[in-house]
Amino acid sequence: MADVDINIEESPFEASPVAPETFDENHVIKFRCYKGIECFNACCSSIDITLTPYDILRLKQRLGMTSTEFLKQYTIPFEFNKGSIAGVKLLPREGSTACQFMTEEGCSVYEDRPTACRYYPVGLLSLRRADENFDRASWALVKEDHCKGHQEEREITIKDYREEQGLEEYDEHGHPWRQLVLKMKSAGPAIGQPSLASRRLFFMACYDLDRFREFVRSEGFQGTFKLSEAELNELYEDDMALMKFSDRFVRQVMFGEESIPRHDDALEKHLKRRQEVQRLREELGEEDAADS
Ligand code: SF4
Ligand code: SF4
Repeated sequence: MADVDINIEESPFEASPVAPETFDENHVIKFRCYKGIECFNACCSSIDITLTPYDILRLKQRLGMTSTEFLKQYTIPFEFNKGSIAGVKLLPREGSTACQFMTEEGCSVYEDRPTACRYYPVGLLSLRRADENFDRASWALVKEDHCKGHQEEREITIKDYREEQGLEEYDEHGHPWRQLVLKMKSAGPAIGQPSLASRRLFFMACYDLDRFREFVRSEGFQGTFKLSEAELNELYEDDMALMKFSDRFVRQVMFGEESIPRHDDALEKHLKRRQEVQRLREELGEEDAADS
């Protein structure tokens, strides 16, 4: 990758310290991790794990909670850039740097562990060339002193390691969000900083699926967007369908990539509603009615 003019966008996965060298999936690494290795659980004792929307979906289903409950109990938000969109990280145990899911036996949510946990010690980097508008995947090896897995003799290609860790599915479902984040981070002055309302919409649609579902049920949403009963029922019942739809929704409201049909009179209704809210506020004597 070093021979092309690459404008490196930071990966959503801040896999620091990442060796500067990046590899393709045929690169062979020497690594093995297993229960009983002397450093067992060391990596889960000091975490910095960014979650994708699919990670959250899997974990909230595993734990039998709503996304809202999951976000509150297990995550902490952060901004990718100052004043820009937010991401969420796993929240460590109170007063500690250890993951809340770590037990003496290992990870208590192993089958549904997040993408970054599956990848470790490989770091996924999304790169975008200056002359292209899509990202390319590339990988780097994270070598930290506490991780003794690098001293094991097993050799494995990154491709096989990804397969072993069940990453193809996670990458497939995480890719649209990763692209969105890159797009947002590289948009610059052309798009400008998203408004607070846009950032809130992004957060809800990407991370808080159950709240987004309530939004989809709302009169405001259904008065604007034209979806069939069958489409709506799927969104009410199927988290995966809702997650895919949320990507379309964010692209439409934040980047003008129209894919969800609107009612012909949606704009007219919206303006009428705003006028009504404004009128009510004026009647109530509120001076600042602009933010309706
Ligand atoms: S989710 Fe599991 S694998 Fe990931 S940091 Fe927590 S305990 Fe470790
Ligand atoms: S070998 Fe590395 S990844 Fe495995 S438990 Fe030890 S520190 Fe964690």
